[in-house]
Amino acid sequence: MQETLRFPGKILGARVTRQADPWFLSVQVDVPDTRYYRHRTGNGIDGADVGMKTFATLSDGEKITRKMQAAKMSIGLTPKAPIPSGTRLPRSRNWLKAQDRLAHTHRRVVNIRSDFLYKTSTRLCRENQAIGIETLSVEGMMHNHHVARAIADQGLGQFFTMLQYKAERYGTQLVPADRWFPSSKLCSTPGCGYLQKDLTLTDREWICPSCGTGHDRDVNAAQNLARLATATALPVAT
Ligand SMILES: [Zn+2]
Repeated sequence: MQETLRFPGKILGARVTRQADPWFLSVQVDVPDTRYYRHRTGNGIDGADVGMKTFATLSDGEKITRKMQAAKMSIGLTPKAPIPSGTRLPRSRNWLKAQDRLAHTHRRVVNIRSDFLYKTSTRLCRENQAIGIETLSVEGMMHNHHVARAIADQGLGQFFTMLQYKAERYGTQLVPADRWFPSSKLCSTPGCGYLQKDLTLTDREWICPSCGTGHDRDVNAAQNLARLATATALPVAT
């Protein structure tokens, strides 16, 4: 096949890979700055609470969830009969076909997942001049095996990497909250700031004993992250 490159610039290299059946050629091009930097569509300041239950909760209360239904397809695996270890089975035509289908399904799931991560990270960077986000707590959670699998599966690491390079392209300031920032436990009501010390991971909603505001755990966290982003990105205004 022959195809014109989508980007102008100097070709730096190329890499050939194969996923399932198809082959891919990735070409690295050194593009001019004008092609690299992007225009934002908004100057908002947002906070994103990223978690396992909801992928991301924004400070206006929006909850971004994944739609993985399209990826859930039956793949027709062979029966689960136990086979003595060391036995070599002939690879039947049907076995090979099942392998192909499995690889195809896997690739489809991976594609749907990356598409979601690309779109979500682009949207956050395009619409905001600053985004408050919790990052270190995720690394901390990765050491806990029960949740590590779920987090890895959601591709959070990949998501943060995308946010970082897209923030640079859109001129958006990423404001990471360190692991000691009590985004969930702090009452986000302006002028209150009560710290609910005994909030546990299972408390999805709570009422501030000081000002009486009812909080959704994730929305409250996102609002605190948005405030942190404001304080960091616009220090004069605050
Ligand atoms: Zn309060």
